Amino acid sequence: MKNDWKAWFPPRIMENGVDDYESGAVIDLKTTDGGYEAIVLGSREYHVEIEINGEDISGMYCDCAYADDGSFCRHMAAVLCEIENQEGSTEETAREIGACTLAQAISALPEAYVRGLLIDLAHQDEKLEAKLIHEYEVQCRQRRQEGIRREVRRIRKCYAEMDEIAEHVRGENYVETMKRLLRMHTEMLLERGDHLSAFELVCAVFVQGGNQELSEKESHKLAQACSACWEKIAAQGGSGMRTIMKRWMSEHGSDGTVNPLFEIYAGKFMSKLDEKSVEDRGAL
Ligand SMILES: [Zn+2]
Repeated sequence: MKNDWKAWFPPRIMENGVDDYESGAVIDLKTTDGGYEAIVLGSREYHVEIEINGEDISGMYCDCAYADDGSFCRHMAAVLCEIENQEGSTEETAREIGACTLAQAISALPEAYVRGLLIDLAHQDEKLEAKLIHEYEVQCRQRRQEGIRREVRRIRKCYAEMDEIAEHVRGENYVETMKRLLRMHTEMLLERGDHLSAFELVCAVFVQGGNQELSEKESHKLAQACSACWEKIAAQGGSGMRTIMKRWMSEHGSDGTVNPLFEIYAGKFMSKLDEKSVEDRGAL
């Protein structure tokens, strides 16, 4: 039912109708073939009929004296309030039931079917498609980063436990293993365009190496390998990535996160990034 009917009643009549409705004077509201009928209690029982055509009110009748000349009376207003109230609560209940059965239906449907349906829907809805792909990328990145952190921790633990090997051999092996890890993973991550994960991997190796008991020679080797990877990432990652890298270098270049030898490499790389941003500006 359309809700512009309130304007049809003179304000005083409307007020009385609302009073009748609120005091519970409308009883016995029933749907009929053409709309509704109800009784409104007053000085006697008034019989009201409302005809509805689609969403429109097409006729109203009351057996009170006021309505005799075709005027719209308070009893009609009261009944319309009651109809609106019931329609509202029916819609609400329908929505509640709908939400409940929808959740039940989805949980009962086979996963393959739901996935297929979601693909169809995403093809029709760009926003949904973008949302799903973004969610996937976030999850992938989180899983990759967790995997990388685990791997770096594992290698360190491995070498920390090798007490029996002479120190310099252990250092050499450690650096070679870390370099191999860097080569393998950074390439794979850069191919995927995941510059952030690649950077995180290199930083993890750099921080760990910068806290390891290594000879000067081995320290240089590892720090150099990290710098080489950073350069690749900076070249491919664009200016947004370079900003992230610069922030990291400025925070960890001299705060004791790594030993002084490694700090020098972070500082050197920082100035390279500065040169690069000068180039960027020049290119514009
Ligand atoms: Zn009436």
